[in-house]
Amino acid sequence: MFENLKAQPADKILALMQAYREDPRDTKIDLGVGVYKNAEGVTPVMRAVKAAEQQIWEEQESKSYVGLVGDPAYSDAMIKLILGDSVARENVGAAATPGGTGACRQAFELIQMASPDARVFVSNPTWPNHISILNYLGMETVPYRYFDSETRGVDFDGMIEDLKTAKAGDVVLLHGCCHNPTGANLNLVQWQEVVDLINAQNLVAMVDIAYQGFGDGLEEDAQAVRLVASSVKECLIAASCSKNFGVYRERTGLLMAVSNDSSQTALNQATLAFLNRQNYSFPPDHGARIVTTILNDDALRADWMAELEDVRISMLGLRQQLADELQRLTGSDRFGFIAQHRGMFSRLGTTPELVEKLRAEHAIYMVGDSRMNIAGLNAQTVPILAKAIVDAGV
Ligand code: PMP
Repeated sequence: MFENLKAQPADKILALMQAYREDPRDTKIDLGVGVYKNAEGVTPVMRAVKAAEQQIWEEQESKSYVGLVGDPAYSDAMIKLILGDSVARENVGAAATPGGTGACRQAFELIQMASPDARVFVSNPTWPNHISILNYLGMETVPYRYFDSETRGVDFDGMIEDLKTAKAGDVVLLHGCCHNPTGANLNLVQWQEVVDLINAQNLVAMVDIAYQGFGDGLEEDAQAVRLVASSVKECLIAASCSKNFGVYRERTGLLMAVSNDSSQTALNQATLAFLNRQNYSFPPDHGARIVTTILNDDALRADWMAELEDVRISMLGLRQQLADELQRLTGSDRFGFIAQHRGMFSRLGTTPELVEKLRAEHAIYMVGDSRMNIAGLNAQTVPILAKAIVDAGV
């Protein structure tokens, strides 16, 4: 049997990480993998996470199973964090999942169960794992224009034109904030236009939100997903706690199925439980318990919010410093988009050849599509990167 296995394409980002580790140059800069790093290049455990873990260690009496959709207190706390008061709790079915990836996977399977002919419209580009999982499940994807390689902003006219080709029942996958890999985002007026189109054409919205608090703030970053949830007939929302709680390896996510008809919620909820049961039975609990402990304790929550805000502000500072440095070196504003982008990533918008040149000649590692992880920088490395970008002729 094993001899029938075929080698699968290597994950490009993981291969890049390996190459970075093996590079002996001490000036090397890692802008590859999507984890937050502080100025010392460390991905820290957040203070509130440490404190919550200690509390759990002291108080937890059992490691017995929790429930197929996880602890309802986790769903409640996360729904409140993400959706605020935009929809009533009784309209939301929710299940804990292994990370945001697990939430996306379960969402796609739900779509496949409920609507086997639906096509999933994905931004071009999108997080590559979206496409990879959809392909693996045999689901049809349709790219919609998103990134304008001239302005490095959103090609909104192109996006709308492409979404207009969707037929009733097709799914539109949107990034709730901090678009990965581009860093370019819709404004709220544009979100409203997308919502109107979804409603006019009877499409299904799916929002993936993996960076709440990394863009313009916790509340600000949730505005788009709240607008969608409160304006459409039904939607799926896949959320990740990996970044904003820094609990990457704990695999902490949530899938929500929101309907404007609350009589639908019980069936949605039971379907999410069924899907968990088929794929891995009980979802991981530790990360979810940490998150719940933090969100339900005023002091821990305040400390978490303060630390998250420091993370956000530090990334905004690095963006501005890089844009300013490039402005100084080139005498032009053509890199101003770096300060406009939000989240952990910016797509530089250059060719794979120049990305390779930056790696070979300047020891700067970014993903081949020219996605830079801004958190891979610090105040000392920004000028080095800026000079390399200019020297390489980007
Ligand atoms: N969606 C997007 C857009 C992401 O960037 C990520 C993280 N790379 C995820 C979902 C899922 O992250 P995780 O499974 O680690 O929670």
